[in-house]
Amino acid sequence: MKNDGIYLGSHVSMNAPDFYLGSVKEAISYGSNTFMFYTGAPQNSFRKPLSELKIQEGRKLLLEAGFDESKLIVHAPYIINAANYTRPDLYEMSINTIVSELKRTAGFGAQILVLHPGSHVGMGAENGIIALAKALDVALACDGTNVKIALETMAGKGHEIGISFQEIASIIDHCKNKHRLGVCLDTCHISDAGYDVKDFNKVLKEFDDVIGLSRLLVVHVNDTKNPIGAHKDRHENIGYGYLGFKTLYDVVHHPLLKGIPMILETPYYNEKAPYKQEIEMLRSGKYVDNWRD
Ligand code: FE
Ligand code: FE
Ligand code: ZN
Repeated sequence: MKNDGIYLGSHVSMNAPDFYLGSVKEAISYGSNTFMFYTGAPQNSFRKPLSELKIQEGRKLLLEAGFDESKLIVHAPYIINAANYTRPDLYEMSINTIVSELKRTAGFGAQILVLHPGSHVGMGAENGIIALAKALDVALACDGTNVKIALETMAGKGHEIGISFQEIASIIDHCKNKHRLGVCLDTCHISDAGYDVKDFNKVLKEFDDVIGLSRLLVVHVNDTKNPIGAHKDRHENIGYGYLGFKTLYDVVHHPLLKGIPMILETPYYNEKAPYKQEIEMLRSGKYVDNWRD
């Protein structure tokens, strides 16, 4: 397994009958040295007990294959929204789901949970930020793990919060448990939010000034179907979108990002996973024109 300080992989599925063992096999088949997974369906919070998910078998295989568990990423389900408390039942459900996802992440031996900051749904971004910070403090005080939450930078669809580095910094600022908070930088989302990813040095400088680079825990490497500032959140295959291969290659190989897990969340094409080819090209620097054909 490649180990030059670049940890590159994709999100992988977790399905019956092999569950986590199957996720690890999938990651290996793409030539990954890290990966991201959901511990159940991304869209809901229904979750199978950990005992049914072949975790021991998966962990045994991944350690044999040379994966570093501290680089693995779990993504929380989208249904969580702790940035609005006008519906106390939903707010409480969101906090409970964050707690249970933190415990599940630890149960897989992983240490980083990616969370979408959520939508303020009309409360305004400032109130949404305060609602989320309170929820995070409650969750982080009672989950009993050391798992870190990586708040994902969002594209600015609807009433999303976390659509600028300032908003992400403000969420962290309002929390007591700052040492367990970090950031997931998504290249498609920040482009949609208005950051010029083609000038990535400038983006990183701003990230460092506003949030601090030490908070960066994971990068989502995606091309985008839309021009800068579009607020659409439609991922595209590497080289097929507005960011292009060279820009994303430079992100993956940026000297300041050494050691930070890089995760592809690009779309399937013709019902095929693109990750093996994308990983190969992003490692080698050799782009194959029309590689999807
Ligand atoms: Fe995400
Ligand atoms: Fe993402
Ligand atoms: Zn997205």
